[in-house]
Amino acid sequence: MTTGLKKAASIARRALTPGKPHHAQWLITRKCNYKCVGCNVWKEQDEKELSTDEIKKGLDVLEKMGIIELVISGGNPLLRKDIGEIIEYASERFVTTVYDNGSMAAKKVDVLKKADFAAISIDSLDEKKNDSIKDVQGAWKNAMNAVDILQKEGVKVSVTPTISQKNLYEIVDITNYFTNRGIPVWFCLYSYDNCVDSDQLFRIGKANDEFIITDKKAMVNLCNQLIEMEKKNKKILMTKKLFEVIRSLFEEEKRTWKCQALNYFLVIDHLGRISGCHNQNFVGSIFDLPTKWKSEEFKKFRQTYHNCTQCNYLCYVAYSVYGGPSGHLSLAKSQWKNAKLLLK
Ligand code: SF4
Ligand code: SF4
Repeated sequence: MTTGLKKAASIARRALTPGKPHHAQWLITRKCNYKCVGCNVWKEQDEKELSTDEIKKGLDVLEKMGIIELVISGGNPLLRKDIGEIIEYASERFVTTVYDNGSMAAKKVDVLKKADFAAISIDSLDEKKNDSIKDVQGAWKNAMNAVDILQKEGVKVSVTPTISQKNLYEIVDITNYFTNRGIPVWFCLYSYDNCVDSDQLFRIGKANDEFIITDKKAMVNLCNQLIEMEKKNKKILMTKKLFEVIRSLFEEEKRTWKCQALNYFLVIDHLGRISGCHNQNFVGSIFDLPTKWKSEEFKKFRQTYHNCTQCNYLCYVAYSVYGGPSGHLSLAKSQWKNAKLLLK
């Protein structure tokens, strides 16, 4: 059996197994070369991180735990010298997406060819606005160039704008611009970390009044527009169900989902510590995961997270909304339309 077929068979088996996490996000480095205004990472750099072998051992643990989708992010994961080895090892086991702020991807094409997906963050079609959000001059040009090169080189590249008050009115244009060029779009939603505990796993989102969505009516309209667009546009990687959940949040201030952190998804930091999400305190090491997964301690954490309403990070919402094996399969099918071969 080829590696691709073995992976597909293993993923199908894992997708149908109940009582296990589906998705993991591994923030493999704290290092970042950007200074995004809505982010804490660049202010709190840490040189420490796991070795290549430790990461591989951790990936073995995740495979045993039944993880299907792995997101490799940071900081900027492409800044790690061993990123090629990590991506190769990960993508033999998981549907693997690698994030880049647009600065490194063009220099790492061969490495990204080994991933299932590369996601490039672009927040505006307006060069100046995008660069002011990233606080790096040239960020927009680098990112647009990276998308172009990756697409020409056959890497499955998508663009991931973060929806905020800064770009709310141009999200439809951004979506059309890229999807008309054959590039899928997945969205992030601006959110910020409320925790200030020193044991918080990984501080990311920084509160910023300019980013907080105040025009709720426009956000509701945007959800309605995207729901209509998604019916015809297969390059929009978000589902109708997710847009509806976000619409309820802005229209009625109603959270129609319960958070499934440490149940259907988990997060690992650059030191191998785990938690339900990056906002919460760490609850152990990745190497303890198999023994702790069904423990009373983890059950209690799950209950706490289940009732938590602290954030609206869209990836966490998505993996909460699509719970259980059938939800996982339908999410994987609709979200990753390009991965049909893997899921057949
Ligand atoms: S948002 Fe991403 S690219 Fe920007 S500073 Fe934070 S980690 Fe770096
Ligand atoms: S709602 Fe869930 S993902 Fe968000 S902070 Fe709470 S536990 Fe974490």
